[in-house]
Amino acid sequence: MKNAVEVIQREQLKEKPTESLGFGQHFTDYMFVMDYSVDKGWHNAVIQPYQNIEISPSAQVLHYGQAVFEGMKAYRQGESIVLFRPEENFKRMNRSNARLNIPEVDGECLLEALKQLVALEKDWIPEGEGESLYIRPFVIATEPHLGVHAALEYKFMIILSPVGAYYGDEQLMPTRIYVEDEYVRAVRGGVGFAKAAGNYAASLAAQTRASELGYQQVLWLDGVEQRYIEEVGSMNIFFVIDGKVVTPELNGSILPGITRKSIIQLAEHLGYEVEERRISIEEVLDSEHISEIFGTGTAAVLSPVGFIKYKEREIKISGGQTGSITQHLYDQYTGIQAGTIPDPFGWRVEVPVTDKV
Ligand SMILES: *Cc1c(COP(=O)(O)O)cnc(C)c1O
Repeated sequence: MKNAVEVIQREQLKEKPTESLGFGQHFTDYMFVMDYSVDKGWHNAVIQPYQNIEISPSAQVLHYGQAVFEGMKAYRQGESIVLFRPEENFKRMNRSNARLNIPEVDGECLLEALKQLVALEKDWIPEGEGESLYIRPFVIATEPHLGVHAALEYKFMIILSPVGAYYGDEQLMPTRIYVEDEYVRAVRGGVGFAKAAGNYAASLAAQTRASELGYQQVLWLDGVEQRYIEEVGSMNIFFVIDGKVVTPELNGSILPGITRKSIIQLAEHLGYEVEERRISIEEVLDSEHISEIFGTGTAAVLSPVGFIKYKEREIKISGGQTGSITQHLYDQYTGIQAGTIPDPFGWRVEVPVTDKV
């Protein structure tokens, strides 16, 4: 796969969306696909028109859930296209794959293929503030066989979706979160640290309950004592405690977010003290020292938390407003992503744009 990936052209390009983009509703003209078999390894890498795929009804993913995904974004800045720490996503995919017994992918080759795909689809990258091209690499087990074993055939794909600004026209909007006290998301030794599709399937009942009660996201507690804070829906979580930036330590059941890792580095760089440790729900509810809470993830980047509901109690954080440290980190982080603030970390990866792809 050293050479450029073969492109199968579409006969006709799609209409670009004109209404508001939302999240994950529109898909571009092309996608990247490759297959795995035991004798050939990963092969058939191709960029082809975005279209339905055919798999057998007995494909293992449909029965035993062997599926892993990733999420990242491409930004358009004038004539250039920028990815943000994309190599981290492929490294994480391989850690997820290892846990789900899926064969390793070649992150370096895939990054080259991704650049080629994104360059081909450059006209799909929206240019409005906060808008981006969401990139979804994923892998599924396609072997047609109901026997329970690690599948012998897989399909890896990358699809692209232009997405709107998470907060619409608004400034950062504090969210309301619901602490789940019955279900758990993950336990140590399980698949919580992997971006496994099944983790989301297991989270939906709690998410629905939270929505019905008027909360936007679920805050998960640890799977053993249901006492220590783990993370929020699709975000990691941070607290400002006595001016320190504190986040739950990675323990095997928390998803190691790339935004989490980057915010830790950025906060330290900006002179904040950062702590990774266990944080109990009692500490959160009873501490007079917590001044701000925010979530981090690729989709929302930073999302301030305004209210937390646990059993009968609801507490308000930062007066239900966005705290100053949250705002500072958000401005610096999105500034680096947008190229308006110098990137001292080498996080931005430019995608070469040529007319010939
Ligand atoms: C993807 C994800 C995150 C955030 O990870 P980023 O790399 O920062 O986008 C957090 N929690 C869960 C459960 C996730 O799936």
